[in-house]
Amino acid sequence: MADAVLTINAGSSSLKFALYRLDDDRTPRPALAGEIEGIGNEPRMTAEDAKGQKLVERGWQDRGMDHRAFLGVLDEWLRGQLGETRLAGVGHRVVHGGTAFAAPVRIDAAVLARLEQLCPLAPLHQPHNLAGIRAVAASRPDLPQVACFDTAFHRAHPELADWFALPRRFHDDGIRRYGFHGLSYEYIAHALPAAAPELAQARVVVAHLGNGASMCAMRGGRSIDSTMSFTALDGLPMGTRCGALDPGVVLHLIRAYGMDADAIEAMLYHECGLKGVSGVGNDMRDLLASDDPRAAQAIDLFVWRIARELGALAAALGGLDALVFTAGIGERSPAIRAKVCELAGWLGVALDPAANRAGALRVSSPGSRVAVFAIPTDEELMIARHTASVLAPA
Ligand code: ADP
Repeated sequence: MADAVLTINAGSSSLKFALYRLDDDRTPRPALAGEIEGIGNEPRMTAEDAKGQKLVERGWQDRGMDHRAFLGVLDEWLRGQLGETRLAGVGHRVVHGGTAFAAPVRIDAAVLARLEQLCPLAPLHQPHNLAGIRAVAASRPDLPQVACFDTAFHRAHPELADWFALPRRFHDDGIRRYGFHGLSYEYIAHALPAAAPELAQARVVVAHLGNGASMCAMRGGRSIDSTMSFTALDGLPMGTRCGALDPGVVLHLIRAYGMDADAIEAMLYHECGLKGVSGVGNDMRDLLASDDPRAAQAIDLFVWRIARELGALAAALGGLDALVFTAGIGERSPAIRAKVCELAGWLGVALDPAANRAGALRVSSPGSRVAVFAIPTDEELMIARHTASVLAPA
């Protein structure tokens, strides 16, 4: 009987899922993918097969149904889809693996307890990730589960890159730079040498530009440094997050505006970035289409910060051989790629405008000293690969 693995990415009001059938050599092949969104409000489930054919579209009126209830719905629905295929395990995206987890891990009670202790470090994501794991464990206790971490890929950082210059005891307590979007970067670390084998040992900066946005410096496919750090707020301005901020601003908000931690957290995560600066919204497509000067300014700020971080990460690498754009904006916006590359000309970046507009894989000109790529990321596939390999029979 053939095996399959399911990937789950559990957020505060959504469950993204994807099913992969495993080849004889345990290579995952996409079978279907979907999402249950609006949990607690107006829940809706959609899924498509690998060819983009709609498999289900369904809504519920019941606001009381929680993640556990919907994992039950998903389990039931998947049984119908699986046919003769056996579900061999579930791989979960888990935002934080702390300092202990530098690789995916099979989940047991002890692992779950350690992941629980990391909830204060990622309060907006980790509890939802773990709720998904617990819900599967409750309904299918025999089904193996694997945790795949957003932080793990960055555990390869040189130690110095993970220090804040705070008193040492805080570092020892875990207040250090971790880095996120690791599953996306790890995918690119495999996809880039597959597309350009000569870059296998190269100095590469990857710009993951989605609603969440960060950049990672890689050498030889290993992470050296990244723009996100203790939380997913640091680094670039994002759709609704502020990016790097003088900590003195936070102190000022407390003293001069009387804001408390909850109010500041809500503002920094949900009201800043492209949305805050433009006053138009967080969707890059809307900003690019807008003739509001504030939208243009938000785009310019986003690009400016990317260009500055690119310089910093090139310094961390001691030079730059390749630049990779990925995630929603990086993959699909020739305009943003062009603006970034223009500011990066001093590094030896030269774009091929026609290739960039056409959405080619390699978008730099033949004479560019730095090779530039636009590569679609696939975090789900990375989770499926990890899950298949962690669960592989010895
Ligand atoms: P998430 O971080 O939520 O996974 P995505 O990687 O899906 O985000 O990226 C979402 C972002 O990509 C949004 O800002 C959206 O506007 C942007 N985007 C998607 N398609 C395009 C496009 N064709 N041009 C510009 N931006 C785009």
